[in-house]
Amino acid sequence: MDIRAGLAAMVSVVALLTGCATLPPIERGGAPSASASVIRQGDTLHLQYQLDRDADVWAFFDSALMSEVREPWRPRQWQVLTPGVVLDREGFYDILRSVDGGPVPRTVDIRITPKAVDLEAEYPTLKFSNGAVALPTRQMTVFPMESVAAVAALPSDLNGVDLATGPTQVRWRDEAGPVLYAGERRPELITQYERSYVLLGQADVTRDEGLTAVIDLALPHWMANTLADAAPATGRWYRQRLGAASSGAEKPVLMAAWNGPTQRMTSMGGSVLPGLIVMSFEGRGIEEPNPEIRERALWFIAHEAAHFWLGQTVRYEYARDAWITEGGADLMAVRALKARDPSYDDKSELQTEIDDCVKYAARPLGSAGERGEHRAYYACGAVFAMAAETAERRKSGGDFLDFVRLLLSENRRDGVVTVQDWMSLYARRGGRPEQASLMLEMVNNGTRDPKAAVLALLEGWDVALEGDRVVLR
Ligand SMILES: [Zn+2]
Repeated sequence: MDIRAGLAAMVSVVALLTGCATLPPIERGGAPSASASVIRQGDTLHLQYQLDRDADVWAFFDSALMSEVREPWRPRQWQVLTPGVVLDREGFYDILRSVDGGPVPRTVDIRITPKAVDLEAEYPTLKFSNGAVALPTRQMTVFPMESVAAVAALPSDLNGVDLATGPTQVRWRDEAGPVLYAGERRPELITQYERSYVLLGQADVTRDEGLTAVIDLALPHWMANTLADAAPATGRWYRQRLGAASSGAEKPVLMAAWNGPTQRMTSMGGSVLPGLIVMSFEGRGIEEPNPEIRERALWFIAHEAAHFWLGQTVRYEYARDAWITEGGADLMAVRALKARDPSYDDKSELQTEIDDCVKYAARPLGSAGERGEHRAYYACGAVFAMAAETAERRKSGGDFLDFVRLLLSENRRDGVVTVQDWMSLYARRGGRPEQASLMLEMVNNGTRDPKAAVLALLEGWDVALEGDRVVLR
């Protein structure tokens, strides 16, 4: 691989790790408007809808386009078998409609040939190299509309739109054997509101109370071993330090798919759902052990698994408070990786956080997202977490995980950590009021002197101004 290909590969590794997006809430209530049965028959899936009413159109909630080509993916993978019904695109949505107008028949049969494609801001189908397939449970969810024109008028974001529809109930089955869901095999599965993945087919399952790993049987061994080893251990370590996670993350799963040794490519992608980390690997560059990819994979698991506690067991109140969960998950990941491997270079990771925080801290952290400066939440959030760790160390001799443990126990009930909750705990663990007001100033206004501010927050760490840079020694 030449240097340019190598760099492009690393860029793709970074670019595809889109783990930390906030999920839209799932509305609950009402009888199902549609039921669907999905049966895996070898390489294809048979999908059958039973619809509860006459409607001219049934549209798909999850209708994201394929990345780059910006085309709908369903027409390339789904073949409608019921005469007189077509799969089409209108506005922001994939739709089922009748050829001649008029209502869609109450029963619609579809044959699916699943393929792994990247989608814009949506969870895609994962294909395992042995033919097993992992599908997002909400991929089949449909809602009725009175006309094609009505679909054309819908906004891309359905939050707040009253669709007068119930959920879609989906029954999943595999002719070849049980299906896998939340790390457990079962003869069949029914989903309705769940937002996760169901796996149809064989995979290597390492069941563990920490983090169950579900891994493509053909993923190159060094990476499969890395994941099967790191995932349970990381989950177990957090669990030991913090107690059980709650809200759908009690039995977390890591699912890893292998898309094959594509030439001139080294790609690792990932995303997170409640209780589930999904990763997919592709390219020749994954076939041989690669320390940089290994480190990125370990970091991804450690950061995302931290969110099962700080992010899912408790979440932030507003998106502007993402420093609490992102910076917190970063320092948790550093501590988790160091606990497992004393040779892990925690200093260089923390130095990067310091450098980046200095870079962004002149502007208000709270509105960093609006400026596209999401990195600021991670970097300055990690510096704030380091300040909390200093206080905790002085108070109890503990580390940042001890601080998080208290944060969880105090806020588990309502599931939300507000800035006030965080600052109040910080003060009670002995954090100085000047430092707390400095953090609030950085959140609300930004600071005039980022280097001085970071140095003040890292009191108790071995940091100094060396030339123009705040250096951790
Ligand atoms: Zn995150």
